[in-house]
Amino acid sequence: MDQIRIKGLEIYARHGVYEEEKKMGQRFQVDAALHMDTRRAGRSDDLEASTDYGAVCRRLEEVLTGNCYNLIEAAAEYAAQDILLSFPLVEKVTLELHKPQAPIPLPFSDVSVRIDRGWHTAYIALGSNMGDRAAWLELGRSGLEKHPACRDVKMASLYGSLPYGGVEQEDFVNSALSLRTLLSPYELLDVLHGLEREAGRERLVRWGPRTLDLDLIFYDDLVLDDPRLTIPHPDLENRDFVLLPLCELAPAYRHPLTRKTVRQMLDELRDRGEGQVTDRKASDLQKTDGYGARR
Ligand code: ATP
Ligand code: CA
Ligand code: CA
Repeated sequence: MDQIRIKGLEIYARHGVYEEEKKMGQRFQVDAALHMDTRRAGRSDDLEASTDYGAVCRRLEEVLTGNCYNLIEAAAEYAAQDILLSFPLVEKVTLELHKPQAPIPLPFSDVSVRIDRGWHTAYIALGSNMGDRAAWLELGRSGLEKHPACRDVKMASLYGSLPYGGVEQEDFVNSALSLRTLLSPYELLDVLHGLEREAGRERLVRWGPRTLDLDLIFYDDLVLDDPRLTIPHPDLENRDFVLLPLCELAPAYRHPLTRKTVRQMLDELRDRGEGQVTDRKASDLQKTDGYGARR
């Protein structure tokens, strides 16, 4: 991807563990690479179509002088996040924060931290089979939309489905979301768990009834094999109640391991004659069991 690069931006700031550093301050330097598509700006010769590097420098100055961090790791982290949130065309930022006057009692020329941060694409499956299911799903959607590190949240239609996994329980309503996020996969999982708790979710029976279930299906092309977080979701290919809504948002998205598209996985599942989705409308499944949603 194209880059706009800033090198050696000097900023006098007060980051450091020692009192003296916080009191006196010292000289820092920033190198930044803003990863973005410059094609439209290049063709139109219009600043509006680009990212104003002067404004980026001023913003870096503001963030790095307006706060006082112990660590240059933290200063770099917040500065990178601020740039990504303030300049919407920037997809990724590489930021190096130098501290050439760091208190090291030996001769040295520089010490720095260099980080890459950027927007990621995530797909999330939603399900509810208690109370006002559509309202619980909406709680999930709006919770993510309101999160400062998430944007472009899109939700598919709602589907009624039969319970999956052999536990006798009420029918589900399912959907899927796509979004862009600055959160790492584990941070995003924590946010999903927080929203489930907000919906009063209790984990009593595996695959049992729930007000709100939010599963992380894909995160970019990441493959993660950890019981706490497995991506892509391991049972994806057997669940039409995940694949159907997902197919509305990203039919051509490829599973990073099998390379099958979402549409292909859905077609294969239907060819096997499997599936939980019914033609019952989500609105017919509301308030059947006394668990009303907080509106
Ligand atoms: P399933 O994951 O088969 O749909 P479930 O959604 O009913 O089952 P939960 O009780 O909601 O399972 O979650 C159990 C644990 O699964 C969570 O605490 C979480 O750490 C872990 N987990 C692993 N991978 C994922 C993922 N991709 N998305 C959400 N949770 C995951
Ligand atoms: Ca689930
Ligand atoms: Ca889950």
